[in-house]
Amino acid sequence: MGALDTSIRFLSGVGPKRADLLEKELGISTLSDLIRFYPFRYIDRSGIIRIADVSPDLASVQVLAQVVRVTLYGPSGAVYDTSAGPPRYNAVKRMSVTVSDGSGMMEMVFFKGIKWNSERLKPGSSFIFFGKPSAFNGKINMVHPEVDAPPQGGVSRVANFEGVYPGTEKLKNSGVTGRVMARMVAAALSSCMPELEETLPDYVMKDNGLCPLRYALQNVHFPSSQEALSRAVERLKFEELFFLQLSLLKQKYIHSRGEVGIRMPKVGDDFNACFKTLPYELTGAQKRVIKEIRSDMTGGHQMNRLLQGDVGSGKTMVAVLSALIAVGNGYQACIMAPTEVLAQQHFANISRYLAPTSVRCALLTGSTGAKERRTVHDGLEEGSIGIIVGTHALIEDNVHFRALGLAVIDEQHRFGVEQRAALWSKGPSDGGGGQIPPHVLVMTATPIPRTLAMTLYGDLDISVIDEMPPGRKPVQTLQIGQGKRLQLYEFMKKEIGKGRQVFVVYPLIFESEKSDLKNLETGYEEIVAAFPFPKYKVAIVHGRQSNEEKNFNMSAFVAGRAQILVSTTVIEVGVDVPNASVMVIQSAQRFGLSQLHQLRGRVGRGAQQSYCILVRDIKTGKDAQKRLDLLCSTEDGFVLAEEDMKMRGPGDLEGTQQSGLPVTLKIASLARDGILLSRVRDYASRILEADPALSDPLNEKLARELRAGKYSVRDFSTIS
Ligand code: ADP
Ligand code: MG
Repeated sequence: MGALDTSIRFLSGVGPKRADLLEKELGISTLSDLIRFYPFRYIDRSGIIRIADVSPDLASVQVLAQVVRVTLYGPSGAVYDTSAGPPRYNAVKRMSVTVSDGSGMMEMVFFKGIKWNSERLKPGSSFIFFGKPSAFNGKINMVHPEVDAPPQGGVSRVANFEGVYPGTEKLKNSGVTGRVMARMVAAALSSCMPELEETLPDYVMKDNGLCPLRYALQNVHFPSSQEALSRAVERLKFEELFFLQLSLLKQKYIHSRGEVGIRMPKVGDDFNACFKTLPYELTGAQKRVIKEIRSDMTGGHQMNRLLQGDVGSGKTMVAVLSALIAVGNGYQACIMAPTEVLAQQHFANISRYLAPTSVRCALLTGSTGAKERRTVHDGLEEGSIGIIVGTHALIEDNVHFRALGLAVIDEQHRFGVEQRAALWSKGPSDGGGGQIPPHVLVMTATPIPRTLAMTLYGDLDISVIDEMPPGRKPVQTLQIGQGKRLQLYEFMKKEIGKGRQVFVVYPLIFESEKSDLKNLETGYEEIVAAFPFPKYKVAIVHGRQSNEEKNFNMSAFVAGRAQILVSTTVIEVGVDVPNASVMVIQSAQRFGLSQLHQLRGRVGRGAQQSYCILVRDIKTGKDAQKRLDLLCSTEDGFVLAEEDMKMRGPGDLEGTQQSGLPVTLKIASLARDGILLSRVRDYASRILEADPALSDPLNEKLARELRAGKYSVRDFSTIS
């Protein structure tokens, strides 16, 4: 075992307790993890600003100032009397240091380390104070600034970059500050350097003008100059994206070579019958996507296609026509939805589209009765059912198809890998004891920026419906404060008076959060009081209800028996109620941008004018406000998705975790490094074209890195 695999607990100053915390909070357990834990931004330590220019809007700043006076405060907030000898420091709760640089004065505040600080911060001496300014009681201060002696010979004007590491509250509390982090990294680097091996072959570095790994790691942590830092970052970003693409493309390459698919050369009478009687003209995007799918299904390789299209873009029709191609070639198709309500809705819509054809369509969900279930199972096994719509019930072991040729999965993110694997095993026999996998079409309404899609779905083909059916009025989106509740109710009544329906959504980040449930219940009671029965009927849906209860309430709203649906975000996925014209989102500041967009997509499906009303609480932070403003400014899901990605910086650990991205990038940013990503992808695919197995000795380093398996994508991108 070399230095790289050594646990960080053996590093001086770390120890078992901090090591555990670093592992838990940041996933750092070995020295190798540590040297690959990069700063997320840099501070120019030569930049000193005047106190007069310090404002609470600035991020971190540093000032060079003289201590004017030091005041200690006791537990009651009263000034601690120091006239009677040296203070008992454990009775001091706060230390305030007033400093001046001639342009102005400000206060440095300490709650900890008071003894040490009052011993060195003597009135009359000068220091460099570094930290985040904030405003308190109308004055500007800094809490727990970093304090340094001013450099010998005055302040240098040569740029001097220092990395800032992402950290967490817990780490800070146990003393792992940015400073400590940097010291640990320095120690780790010096013990790892001798055995650190280059990961890129010489020719790759030369082709792309990249610096060596050792240089890059040294300079990403401790840049010797601005230029060295740029070269280091460029190399590390390249490396990260390159191996990610290489591993995805390699899978895809093997996949498209190896996987035999069912050949479906015909279009068939049923397709034509449905197509001729469509209630509307297909949009250009729908036509293009159907062509792409058809060409996959005729090709003899298994289709693995992701269909992206914003809510309301008409994906269902694409699914139906694809299913009819399968049927026209003597195969069956299944369409899976994530919830019972959605499956029912799909079934109702699809049955209508299929009316002019001779195809038998059936529904199979968890609540299908025993007798009906047997009929459906038989129909699938003997082949009399051509298209089956359903939920997870479709992939149960006792469901057998005569010849499943196409599986459509709606809203892919709700399905796990095992479930997709179960689908594969339901394909027709290959005559040799195995199965031929059905073609797979995954549909999602989550707009994924192109750069992200390229990474996540490097092994899938992608089709995009980027055009909405004509004749839709844009949804009017507006923000209001809690105080406007009565006006809001008036407005809802007016819309309901016109025969429309209203969604009211409450946030529920974790279904178990008690306070959220309480908010929802209080909100519901308030609405029931404002909209009295029997004139108004209000349904409620949330995650704590039984499936039966949920379905009952949901169906009441879908069928128009209730005018208002109060719910948590369970309605986010897919439900189509064209008659709903108002979406009210409570505590809108607590939702993510893409979630808000998905919710808004639930209205504006009919011809009438629709509204999305964002109700924000008093405590709406800056970022949240920016999200709400963005949402009001555009309805383009792709624009919103890009912006969303940009707003979550790479240093935002929590954001990355919550975003559910299946890859964690350490240094590259999918939002900002799109151009590099496409260049890297082209380069990687050229290498694979020449050497698909990476068996050329020149590519030995590449094969080794991929085998080490560090660059892989979690869960949901891969269908196989
Ligand atoms: P989604 O992509 O969200 O699944 P749907 O397939 O549910 O969208 O379609 C939304 C609505 O648009 C449906 O009511 C559907 O009938 C209608 N629609 C689909 N395609 C067209 C089209 N080309 N022209 C007009 N309306 C369409
Ligand atoms: Mg849909």
